[in-house]
Parts: sequence; C-alpha cells; structure tokens
Amino acid sequence: LRVLRLLAAGHDPDLATLKREGMSRELILAIVDVRGSIRALNNEKRRAETVLSEIGDGIITVDGAGKVVVFNRAAESMLGEKASRVVGQDLESADLHPELARLASDCLDGRGARAAEIRLPGVPERVIGIRATRFPEFGRGDTALLLLRDLSEARRHEKMQKEFVSNVSHELRTPITAVRVTAEALLAGAKNDEELVDRFLSNIVAESDRLSALIDDLMEIAKRESGITRTEKTQVRVLDAMERAYMTVRPQAEKSGIAVELQAPPDLTAYADETQLVQLFRNLLDNAVKYSLEGGKVSMTGVRTESGIEIAAQDTGIGIPHGEVDRIFERFYRVDKARSRRIGGTGLGLAIVKDIVDAHGGRIAVDTQLGRGSTFTVSLPSGDREQ
Ligand code: ADP
Repeated sequence: LRVLRLLAAGHDPDLATLKREGMSRELILAIVDVRGSIRALNNEKRRAETVLSEIGDGIITVDGAGKVVVFNRAAESMLGEKASRVVGQDLESADLHPELARLASDCLDGRGARAAEIRLPGVPERVIGIRATRFPEFGRGDTALLLLRDLSEARRHEKMQKEFVSNVSHELRTPITAVRVTAEALLAGAKNDEELVDRFLSNIVAESDRLSALIDDLMEIAKRESGITRTEKTQVRVLDAMERAYMTVRPQAEKSGIAVELQAPPDLTAYADETQLVQLFRNLLDNAVKYSLEGGKVSMTGVRTESGIEIAAQDTGIGIPHGEVDRIFERFYRVDKARSRRIGGTGLGLAIVKDIVDAHGGRIAVDTQLGRGSTFTVSLPSGDREQ
C-alpha cells in the first residue's frame, strides 16, 4: 500500500525499495511495466504539446459539449486571442469568428461543410482557411478538430498575379492599337500629306520601340520569377559596370543635353552578378536621364562602406511626390502615366531594380524633392562572409 501511495504521489521508487517493501516478483514486474507505460505516455504528451505549440498552423479542439479544449499558439496569433481566455469556454460564446463555432458544431453533428475561409478585418486584411475533422476521445465522446492556416500571403500573391496579367494585356495592347490606328490613318489618305506621313511613321517607330522594351522587361521578369535567371556573384569592378550601363543610356543623355558623371575608386568592386549589376545601373541611369529636364545633371557614385559598397544615382530632375515613393517599385506603377509613356517607359524598370537588389541581399533607398531631383542609393553587402 505504501508503494502504491508513493506511485500515486508521483514518486518513482527504485527496485531496491520495492524489494525492501517485500513485494512479490510478479508485482514488482507489473509495477515496472506500468511505470514504463506512464513514462512513455508522459513523453508522448510532452511531444504532442511541443508540436502543438511550435506548429505554424492554428489548432483548436472542441469537445462534444462545445467547449474549447486546445487553443495553440498559432491559433492565438492568427485570431488575436489568448488561450487562457478561451480554453474551457463555450466556443460559441468565446467571441471568436462565428464561422468557427458553426464549423465545429456542424462537424460534431456530422453535417455541413468541412472547410471555410474567414476574413479578419485589419490592415492588411487577413484570410484564414479552416478545415474541420472529427475524432473520438476516450470517455469524452466526439471532439472536433479545427485546423487554421494563414492564407493571407497566398491570396495577396494570387491577387497581384491576376492584376499583373490584366496589366500586361493592357500594356501590350496600347502600342499595338496605336500602330494600327496610325497605319489605318495612313491608308485612309494621310499618305498623301508628306508632313503627316513623317509624323505617323515616327509614331509607329516609337510605339514599336516601346513594345520591344516592354517585351524585354516582361521577359526579364518572367525569367527571374521562374528561376531561369541565376545570380552568380563574382567581384565585379564597379566603374566597368557603370560604363557598360552608360553606353545604352548615352544617346538619350546626349540628345537631351544631360551631363552624366560616373565616379568610383578604380579598385572598388561589388560582389555581384555582373549582368544583373549592369542592368541595375542601366535602369537607374535611364530613369535619372528620362526624368531630368534638358540640360540637367546626372551622377553615379560608388563608395566603399563598412559593410560593403554604396552606389548613388543622383539627378537634378523632376523629383517624386513623397506619398508615391513607396509605390514606384511596384510593377507598372508610374507617377505620371502619360509622361512615362511619352518618354518610352515601361513601368517595370524599378520593379526589376528592386528584385536585383533583393537577390543580392542589398537595400535601396530614395531621397527626393519635387522639382529638384532624386537620389537612389543602393547598398550591397561585401560578400566576405559568403566567400
Ligand atoms: P518607367 O518605365 O515608367 O520609368 P520605372 O519602374 O523605372 O518605370 O519607374 C516607375 C516610376 O517612378 C516612373 O514612371 C516615374 O514616375 C518614377 N521615377 C523613377 N525614377 C525616377 C527619377 N529618377 N526621377 C523622377 N521620377 C522617377
């Protein structure tokens, strides 16, 4: 009896004690057996508790009487509610989303839908997917298990993809329509007016260039998204990359009388993918020139910093309204759509810039003043630790 009391109080008497208490061999073996089972159950319980609290999915269980039994950590953060307030409560009166109680009770009754999506208001709105299943528990009847998964990111991504596809279709159609309308006007009689012919043909050339730039940028984005573009980093001489980038921008800069200055210590290198670095510089220089007024100044400067390098592309151009700075890295976002179109922009240049910077573990910052100019500063890590 004393041994049983010891066991009941949670003690774990060793074999010598059991023998001293004059227990029979069979009883000792039975106790050892039970003790093993209790240990295994305790281990199992601890494992289940750890999994429940560490798992990223929200888990709620509700007993046959509708009371909450389990409300794990992920459920707490998804629903913004503490387990201590909910466990032991009736799910219906726990002031959570009504869909949860409905799913649990339908599931316990063996009827109704077993899956649902709920939207939780807030900025940004959150979307939680719920699946319900039922399982029997000893001595408790049926229990409903609700599995919650945060679908917000996936839904946001889907929405962005849909918007992107519809934007692509619109952006591709615009120059094609312009070419068609101009060609039709020529056919309809404008071809007899020499001045109009010149104007219309230049228009067709400009729209074709735009279409071609758009296709290049779209291909670049598609290649980056599908993982075809690999980021193979080496030490690249910064001044060389700047000069290569400037070559494509130069005709436009010269036409607009914009002075461009490239500056970096001759031995300054970036730990980067060379092709991508040139493209990053090209897009920034291209914008600096595009959004400058005739006779403006553009400079690109590279310096070494404590953690890597910093490249600043500075212009004396039109600047960006402060409220829009965060949005200019979005695909197809332009501050002034008509202006960007007129000067041959695609609305994708900065989205590609941001993607390249991210692929290199870098950061980009914008300092701008309306009517005075903008500076885009890219910081790239040195890569010492990676090498
Ligand atoms: P776009 O092809 O239209 O230039 P980007 O993605 O390169 O597209 O840039 C998005 C928008 O950000 C531009 O349409 C423009 O409104 C603004 N922007 C980018 N760079 C500059 C700059 N250097 N000065 C002023 N505005 C800029």
